[in-house]
Amino acid sequence: MTKHVFVTGGVVSSLGKGLTSASIGMLLEQRGLRVRMQKLDPYINVDPGTMSPYQHGEVYVLDDGSETDLDLGHYERFTHSPLTRDANYTTGQIYLAVIEKERRGEFLGKTVQVIPHITNEIKHAIRKLADSSVDVVITEIGGTVGDIESLPFLEAIRQLSLDLGRENCLYVHLTLVPYLKAAGELKTKPTQHSVGRLREIGIQPDVLICRTERPISREDREKIGLFCNVPLQAVIEERDKDFSIYEVPLSLVEHQLDDLIVQKLQLPAGPLDLNHWRELLRRLRNPEREISIAVVGKYAEHFDAYKSIYEALDHAGIHHRTQVRIGRVLSEAIEREGPERLLSGYDGVLVPGGFGERGIEGKVEAIRFAREREMPFLGICLGMQCAAIEFGRHVVGLAGAHSTEFHKDTPHPVICLLDEQRNVTDKGGTMRLGAHPAHLAPGSRAQTCYQSERISERHRHRYEFNAAYRQQFLAHGMAFSGVSPDGTLVEIMELPGHPWFVSVQFHPEFKSKPTAAHPLFVGFVGAAVTRHGTRSERAQEQEIEVS
Ligand code: GLN
Repeated sequence: MTKHVFVTGGVVSSLGKGLTSASIGMLLEQRGLRVRMQKLDPYINVDPGTMSPYQHGEVYVLDDGSETDLDLGHYERFTHSPLTRDANYTTGQIYLAVIEKERRGEFLGKTVQVIPHITNEIKHAIRKLADSSVDVVITEIGGTVGDIESLPFLEAIRQLSLDLGRENCLYVHLTLVPYLKAAGELKTKPTQHSVGRLREIGIQPDVLICRTERPISREDREKIGLFCNVPLQAVIEERDKDFSIYEVPLSLVEHQLDDLIVQKLQLPAGPLDLNHWRELLRRLRNPEREISIAVVGKYAEHFDAYKSIYEALDHAGIHHRTQVRIGRVLSEAIEREGPERLLSGYDGVLVPGGFGERGIEGKVEAIRFAREREMPFLGICLGMQCAAIEFGRHVVGLAGAHSTEFHKDTPHPVICLLDEQRNVTDKGGTMRLGAHPAHLAPGSRAQTCYQSERISERHRHRYEFNAAYRQQFLAHGMAFSGVSPDGTLVEIMELPGHPWFVSVQFHPEFKSKPTAAHPLFVGFVGAAVTRHGTRSERAQEQEIEVS
């Protein structure tokens, strides 16, 4: 029978529940278990696709085209759990399903209520993942215990232990044990209160994972255990990791979290094998060099907006034994101060995806700078579209070239709406989404990176390169090295004469893993490493000449 682990959070948000859940998944997989990961989000939006990155961070896209919470990115980077639409439910989706059933007459005669109709729908969403090919389903409940919004989810997971047997469900509660400088000590009271709220709902956590800046003494763990009714060995410290998120699973293993879960749920687990993970951390800790990449975005100050991109750069760094220092450059700052001042210190430039006109001209200038100065460049989605605008304006000579997303009446719409988008009016879930295949030109840089002529990558866009401009671009030296199988859509554009200039209409960052960096990121960071090497050699030569 499939067992269930539920992960809740208390005290404050942003405790890293996603990372902790992903780490638990990874540890159980490394003990030979078959794991499925899932996140339930209490907000009413049907999916995060229509939310601003300021509200929600990055929207993570799956192969099947679902737009999901960024925690699913952690799940994919840490585990092999296949993720589909069923891996992320929101209150909005749950209510939508129940209301549609009500309209179809499926509850005829009954009053439709939160309990049992909404909670049944939530339980159904969780149980959907449990089949004979799965040992454990790990379900993370978004939000913080005590929020009104999360109550139906907590009620549903409480009921599940009644339906399935208490021995088949394990409740992990993540809390904060803050250090109060004035008192000079760690405080356990917020944890006691948060567990108190959970117990009021009828959930007794089996394991407490306590996020803390400082080591928690045995006395404090005993105190937490006593007040929260949890045995001492199940009060686990999770110290802040300022070095890397990939250390989290190892710190949980130090406190035997995997043993605890395996024993409590009586799972058919083997011994833990963490060799490849330790090797990854060893590489991270011992880089042979450091390079720097500028990520030129609209939300430069907002870390979560480009989460998967930063991770993918790190993965490529692990591959090359290189520390990749990431500079978050605001594209509007480039408009004010110019690219020379803001970009010349970097070894490569990456322009990520995005929506909306703000900062577009800064991105175009950044790309021009990278092209003219022969800096390695990777453009992603909107980044590719800006590369087309830049090349159209400054190389092909199409004055005023633009995307119709930003300038409807541009004389040269080098980027225009996809045909399939022309009659779309709804905003949610209506873009060209999810995995689509592409064919790569033999001998191109893209094909050399992938070592394959057929690829599949995830998309999230409404606009495309306008085929009417293909000939002119080709004539001026741009190569369309990746196209859709029927040849109509441009998926990759590259400049053969440039040291490394590749831009893609899809999102390679979603498929990069710490143990298997994405080929395009490997290629891009590799080119930046080469440039860095030549730059330092040149600097050394100059020093010698001067002395
Ligand atoms: N705004 C552009 C489009 O819709 C790019 C989207 C993106 O970068 N994800 O096509």
